[in-house]
Amino acid sequence: MLELKKVSKFYNDDGNINTGILKVDLKLNIGEFVIITGESGSGKSTLLNVISGLDSYEEGEMYINGKETSHYNKYDFEEYRKKYIANIFQDFNLINSYTVYQNIELMMILNGYSKKDIKKRVLEIIDKVGLTKFKNTKVSKLSGGQKQRVAIARAVVKDTPIIVADEPTGNLDTKSAQNVIEILKNIAKDKLVIIVTHNIEQFEQYATRIIKMHDGEIIENKEIKQIDENTKAKECNNKNIKIKNIVKLGVRNTFNIKTKFVLLFLIFFLVTTTLFFEYSNFKYAEYQESLDGSSTYFKDVSDNRILIKKEDGTPFTRRRL
Ligand code: ADP
Ligand code: MG
Repeated sequence: MLELKKVSKFYNDDGNINTGILKVDLKLNIGEFVIITGESGSGKSTLLNVISGLDSYEEGEMYINGKETSHYNKYDFEEYRKKYIANIFQDFNLINSYTVYQNIELMMILNGYSKKDIKKRVLEIIDKVGLTKFKNTKVSKLSGGQKQRVAIARAVVKDTPIIVADEPTGNLDTKSAQNVIEILKNIAKDKLVIIVTHNIEQFEQYATRIIKMHDGEIIENKEIKQIDENTKAKECNNKNIKIKNIVKLGVRNTFNIKTKFVLLFLIFFLVTTTLFFEYSNFKYAEYQESLDGSSTYFKDVSDNRILIKKEDGTPFTRRRL
């Protein structure tokens, strides 16, 4: 379902051309649990970013379900990512001031799911990664292992056929890492899971394919378990975010951090009171001046000026003679 033919990616670093990946040939299918390994700088992240549609490529062709992608522009790649890709990052990329539930819900809101689908599915996934007890806990209060489980839940909830993870256990202790790997393995059944890791032993027993990279090239591509090649990736029917939900997120983002809300309120209070005092001072000064017989309309005039007002305050009108 995903195929790369002689794909190269180069980086232009102040005029120096760096090779990210070089003429990579690769064919991956649904149901595979792929491990990519290699020393630092060997192109693992670049390969993952190209597959994820986060990086474009300069040479070769990448096919998804047999369709070419080399002509894709930024928006095509956004669509591609929506339909096919879920990312799990080493540093979790979660919103710390949101609860576990809200972090996962956010992904569904952003992908245009309806309200009734969201609640059921979010709770289901939270249960799957074993965090039901923490569903209303803010992410900032969780351990590294728990955070990574939230990140996995958030990736899975999107229901895309491909899940990519760059060093998902890189920041975890052995026990949490094991836990995370088990969850990833269970997910892999009807998806293509691609994992970049330094620590191949952690994943080895589950891998269906192990790929080794060196200087941007694949130097070893070992199929450990054969997977049916003809399974087509089910496109994920993600839509755009609904207006109602944009408002909901705006309100949530204003109120979710207590100190932020208090600060916003204080700033609002200061600005409005300052404006109010400025305005009333101005009005008062204007009134005082008018008592003295001057007004804003008659500034800078001679001291000998005589001001005539009608007693009843009505304006003077010109009488035709
Ligand atoms: P790995 O993930 O295996 O450590 P990377 O894919 O990050 O390797 O990097 C592969 C090569 O591409 C390295 O030589 C690196 O210096 C280069 N590279 C990666 N990202 C960039 C970038 N944004 N700008 C310039 N060079 C980059
Ligand atoms: Mg990397």
